[in-house]
Amino acid sequence: MPGILYLVPTPIGNLGDLSDRMRETLAQADFVAAEDTRVTRKLLSHLDLHKPLVSYYEHNKSQSGPRIVERLLAGETCALVTDAGTPAISDPGEDLVRLCSQAGVEVVSIPGPCALITALTVSGQPTARFSFEGFLSTNKKNRRAHLDSLKQEQRTMIFYEAPHKLLDTLTDMQAVFGPERPVSLCRELTKLHEEIIRTTFGGALALYTDQAPRGEYVLVVCGAQKRQAAVPSMEAAVSAVLALQAEGVRLKDAVRPIAEQFGVTKNALYDAALAARDGMSKEQASEIALSSAALLSKGGGCDEV
Ligand code: SAM
Repeated sequence: MPGILYLVPTPIGNLGDLSDRMRETLAQADFVAAEDTRVTRKLLSHLDLHKPLVSYYEHNKSQSGPRIVERLLAGETCALVTDAGTPAISDPGEDLVRLCSQAGVEVVSIPGPCALITALTVSGQPTARFSFEGFLSTNKKNRRAHLDSLKQEQRTMIFYEAPHKLLDTLTDMQAVFGPERPVSLCRELTKLHEEIIRTTFGGALALYTDQAPRGEYVLVVCGAQKRQAAVPSMEAAVSAVLALQAEGVRLKDAVRPIAEQFGVTKNALYDAALAARDGMSKEQASEIALSSAALLSKGGGCDEV
């Protein structure tokens, strides 16, 4: 019977984040596949574990992966660990999981530290819907194409980045998303010098003109919000109220169901409809509709496009 591949997360900076289940899984594995055997050896000695290690990383995965699967098919149990965090998130673990699933080998993922989730939760950006974008390409053209494809993205976006590329990335992001777009720079998570800088692209670039970025970063970028979607809804709501009024329904009675239908508050709709009805200039009425819509829009993003 084949063995099992266990994906064992490791701390992203704080050894206190090692769980009992991680420790037990490592202890019970026949062998450990590691991204950098020197890093993993240190972790294992911290746990007082002495396990056979095999190397599995980006540049040897095509040879090492099939060898690991062979051992799994022969009944051994393997724990896969990367340098930090959850295997298969922006590292070659993904390929080993695919090989195992193709070979019919069971894979069990142990929950644990992951930089993207730690960053998202502390970022202060909307968390209900998000998109993990990983590392941008080092190729300028591809990086820009990736960012351009996200111009209208309304979900919160999460990026990994190395400190020496951070300035270039922030500059490219500012060009695509604009200097006012909120971004949280989540630095050295779970470590002694953890820092969460909640700012904008303009603010971030100003910050790093005086000091060079240091440490590991996750960028959490607020999604775009569609202004166009909000404005017609208030204008359309006013028209719907006035149409009901024309049929003899009292303004107050018309406002309640229409406000619900269009997702705006009753008071704002009442004021906007009153202004329109009482013959305010078209500009004034639309100004009210516009500012109410902006205030009332229920979108999850932070910036208007
Ligand atoms: N598999 C890992 C995970 O679960 O998060 C990610 C591996 S990826 C090769 C490494 C990237 O994760 C770093 O470049 C950085 O963007 C992010 N990262 C890892 N540890 C971090 C930390 N302590 N603080 C901030 N970012 C971190």
